[in-house]
Amino acid sequence: MSRIAYVNGRYVPRRDAMVHIEDRGFQFADGVYEVCEVRAGALVDSRRHLARLERSLSELRMTPPMGLPALLMVLRETVRRNRVRDGIVYFQVTRGVARRDFSFPTPAPEPTLVVTARSLDFTRNERTAAAGISVITVPDIRWQRVDIKSVSLLPNVLAKQEARDRGAYEAWMVDAQGFVTEGSSSNAWIITADDKVVTRPADQGILRGITRTVLMEVIAAHGLTLEERPFSTAEATAAREAFVTSASQIVMPVVRIDDKPVGTGKPGALTLALRRDFHRHAESWTK
Ligand code: PMP
Repeated sequence: MSRIAYVNGRYVPRRDAMVHIEDRGFQFADGVYEVCEVRAGALVDSRRHLARLERSLSELRMTPPMGLPALLMVLRETVRRNRVRDGIVYFQVTRGVARRDFSFPTPAPEPTLVVTARSLDFTRNERTAAAGISVITVPDIRWQRVDIKSVSLLPNVLAKQEARDRGAYEAWMVDAQGFVTEGSSSNAWIITADDKVVTRPADQGILRGITRTVLMEVIAAHGLTLEERPFSTAEATAAREAFVTSASQIVMPVVRIDDKPVGTGKPGALTLALRRDFHRHAESWTK
């Protein structure tokens, strides 16, 4: 089946899905995006993802390409046309097409909107979670507005590639003080010996993950204590459990950090319990 993408008002076969060479997303990474999980054909936490998109756009003084209810319909239609049951929907908005000039074009061009959807192998994801993943640590070389979900992802790309090159699954970025900020495409968490669940505050050098936000409800429902504070690489390696969160991986156990085992070297029991319970707390609508 040929896959379909939505590009600026049209659903087109992927090979015909194109944007202009002077799109500011292409030339300046002047755009933002979201990735939303699709589960049993329904979008998971779409309301929160759309709200974050709106915030990212407004921080960059960009206009939304359409109202959020209309955008939600496009997301659902793209999922439907690609027959995605379990997977992800990706949506990107750029400032649009204009003659190359650094400052914002005036008048503002029509924003570019691209939506794609694809299936993910659910069982493979579960197998990965059952085994746990390895992470490496790398210096965080990103800019200071990582709270904006912009498509300017080159440092994240380099970090993920370094992980791949070193046989790991994810890279945790570390700030100048030696504290972990977040993963290249995920938020980073540890669980201490006394069962405290620790993650960095969202106002300090990380993206406020939607999975992170929802997981805080799961943590509370499990009667666990949440500590929002920075943690160092050394503390992470000495932790009882560690994991990452993102829309496509939900809660993914981390079993090695820089080649040192975390806890028993196996996925932690609390981590797996949080993973199992996640979707009872996430919002999901089919209609
Ligand atoms: N941090 C970064 C840098 C990311 O790219 C992502 C995933 N897009 C996350 C955190 C997790 O965010 P979410 O839970 O909303 O997918």
